Amino acid sequence: MFVDKVRITVIGGRGGDGAVAFHREKYVASGGPDGGDGGHGGSVILRVNDNLSTLLDFRYKRKYQAAAGVSGQGRKMAGKRGENLIIEVPRGTVVRDAETNQIIVDMSTGEDFVLAKGGRGGWGNAHYATPTRQVPRFAKAGLKGQERDVILELKLLADVGLVGFPNVGKSTLLSVTSNAHPKIANYHFTTLYPNLGVIYVDEGVSFVMADIPGIIEGAAEGAGLGHDFLRHIDRCRLLLHIVDVSGSEGRDPVEDFHAICAELKNYSVDLSSRPMIVAANKIDLLPPDSDNLQRLRAAVEAAGCELYEISAGTTAGTRNLMRVVAEKLRTLPPVTIYEPEYVEVVEAPTDPSAFDIEHYGNTWLVTGAWLERLVQNINFEDYESRNYFDQQLRKVGLFARLEEMGIADGDTVDIYDFEFEYQR
Ligand code: GDP
Ligand code: MG
Repeated sequence: MFVDKVRITVIGGRGGDGAVAFHREKYVASGGPDGGDGGHGGSVILRVNDNLSTLLDFRYKRKYQAAAGVSGQGRKMAGKRGENLIIEVPRGTVVRDAETNQIIVDMSTGEDFVLAKGGRGGWGNAHYATPTRQVPRFAKAGLKGQERDVILELKLLADVGLVGFPNVGKSTLLSVTSNAHPKIANYHFTTLYPNLGVIYVDEGVSFVMADIPGIIEGAAEGAGLGHDFLRHIDRCRLLLHIVDVSGSEGRDPVEDFHAICAELKNYSVDLSSRPMIVAANKIDLLPPDSDNLQRLRAAVEAAGCELYEISAGTTAGTRNLMRVVAEKLRTLPPVTIYEPEYVEVVEAPTDPSAFDIEHYGNTWLVTGAWLERLVQNINFEDYESRNYFDQQLRKVGLFARLEEMGIADGDTVDIYDFEFEYQR
C-alpha cells in the first residue's frame, strides 16, 4: 500500500527534577548545598532514510515520545539526559502543523530536524547557591517536553515536469518510459500528483517525472493556473515540453510551442526560466510532405532549447530522450525545498492566575505552563527576543504581582532556569 499522508503526535521527554541535598561528612556540622541538576528530556528528531518510500509505518503508530531526563542527586550528581527518539521518514516528507497547516519543515535536504524539544532539567539547589543565598532549600522540577500534532505528507521529489497541450502525448510518454521495465514503481497520486513515475535509465540512474495535466489544460481553456498546480511544477528541476508535431489534432506545432511558453511566463518568470527540453511527439503520424518538424526546430532553437523527435506511441526515440533528460539533470541544482512557514509565538495569557510565585528569602520562583513554552522559545542571547520576553511578563502583570508580594530591589527572580536581578 502506498501511504502519503498521516497525522501523528510527537512529545519531547520531560526534564528530570533538580535535587535538594546538603553535603554531609562526619564531624562537619552542616555542609553546603549539593543537589544536582535534572537531566534534559530527550527530543523527537526527524531523519531522512532513503530506503523508505512510503509513510506506511506511521499508520499503525501515532504517538512518539522521547525519554525523560533522570532527576539529579546529592553530591552534585546531575541526572542523565533522556535519549532522543529518532523518527525516520522518506526524503521529500513535508511536515505541517496539524492545526494551522503551516509548513514546519521539508525533509528533503537530509538534515536532521528537532520536531519536539525535550524539557529542560530542573536546577538542583547547588545551582542556586550564591554568596548571599548560602542555604537554598529549594530546587526546580524538570520542564515538560514540547508536544505537537503534525501532518506528514510525502511529496516525492519530481525532477521533471511534463508540460504541453492536451492530447499531445504526455501521459503516453510517462507510461511507456516508466512501464518499459517491469520492476519500475509507478506511483499514482489522485489528488496531488495525477501521474508520477520513476524512470530508471541505467543502473543507479533514475529520476521522477510528473504529468500535471491540470496545469496547461486548464490554462488553455482560459481557466488559469491554480496555486496548487503551481506548487507542484515549482518543485521540478526541468520542464519537458511535449508538442504534437504531426498536427494530427489540426493544431500548428509552432503556435502550440509559443502558446505554452507564453503561459508559463504568465504564471511565473521563475518557472519560464527553468531549463526546458522540447520533444516533437507523434513523429510516426507526420505526413511526409510536412514542414512542421523543420519549422518547430527553428522555433525551439531560437528559444534556446533542444528538440528531440519521438513517438510515444511506438516508443521510438523515447529511451534516448530519457537518457538526455537524465544527463541534463546531472548538471542541474537539486529539487526545490519548501521554506518553513511556521513560527511559534507564545503569548502571555491575560488571566493573572496563569502563573504561580513561590518565595524563598530574596529568591522568587515563578512558574506557569505557558511560561515553560515561552522560555523554551526565547533566545536569551538575542536582544529582540529578550525584549519580547520582558513585554510578555509585563503584559501578564508579573511585576505588579511581585511588587504586591513585597519584592525588593536586588532580589532574584527565577523563571525556570532563567534568572535575573529585580530592579524597579
Ligand atoms: P496527454 O493529454 O498529453 O496526456 O496525451 P495522451 O498521452 O493522453 O495522448 C493522447 C492521444 O494521443 C492518445 O490517444 C494516444 O494514444 C495518442 N498518442 C500519444 N502519443 C502518440 C504517438 O507518438 N503517436 C501516435 N500515433 N499517437 C500518440
Ligand atoms: Mg494526460
